[in-house]
Amino acid sequence: PLSPAKFPDLIEAISATLNEHADAITQLDQAIGDGDHVFNLQRGVEALQSHATEIADLDWPAAWQKIGMTVMAAIGGASGSLYATLFISLNKNTKDKPVSIQTFAEAFQLAVAAVKQRGKADVGEKTMLDVWVPVAETLKRAVSEGQQLNVILDQVCAAAEAGVESTRDMLATKGRASFLGERSKGHIDAGAKTAQLMIEAIARQIR
Ligand code: ADP
Ligand code: MG
Ligand code: MG
Repeated sequence: PLSPAKFPDLIEAISATLNEHADAITQLDQAIGDGDHVFNLQRGVEALQSHATEIADLDWPAAWQKIGMTVMAAIGGASGSLYATLFISLNKNTKDKPVSIQTFAEAFQLAVAAVKQRGKADVGEKTMLDVWVPVAETLKRAVSEGQQLNVILDQVCAAAEAGVESTRDMLATKGRASFLGERSKGHIDAGAKTAQLMIEAIARQIR
């Protein structure tokens, strides 16, 4: 199974994709938000990079906890507390469990449920949840079907892409974009886009 020793490579891949798409993400968050989304995530990624070797030596539950606390301290904005919630919930739900993709898939679905609760939001509200919810469901289904890793990753990436695209015509009802009402329609959500980019980068690294 994948160990946190891979963390430095994973965070590097996430950093690269956010840097590469920074201008496009800023345009998305400027259209229906305040334009700082990629900057918020980049701050978090930089903090994680500065702890990467330390995290690489931990077991998964301890690594998730450290990642969550680092993100919480480094990222402002809505996305900071939501991602911190995701990682801290991954700590709680992987603790004392066997290290396996089954454990991860189950813990991940619970972590996404914790994010929903934290943000009082659900799918269909034009947020990162329009990517994370279908991704968590797809991961759990593909793993329980006993699919091979490459197939699981293909299905997860496809679910993420469909999720981003689904936000385009949605009316935002949570976060800053909700202040725009009907004018929030016609743009994909920045937080959904970065979720999809990060998933794609992780999948590329672990194939
Ligand atoms: P802020 O909106 O505080 O400037 P960011 O720009 O970093 O924070 O993040 C905005 C993103 O956070 C949105 O694009 C959306 O995907 C996500 N988001 C905002 N509010 C919520 C919520 N209540 N639940 C889930 N995701 C949310
Ligand atoms: Mg913003
Ligand atoms: Mg902001």
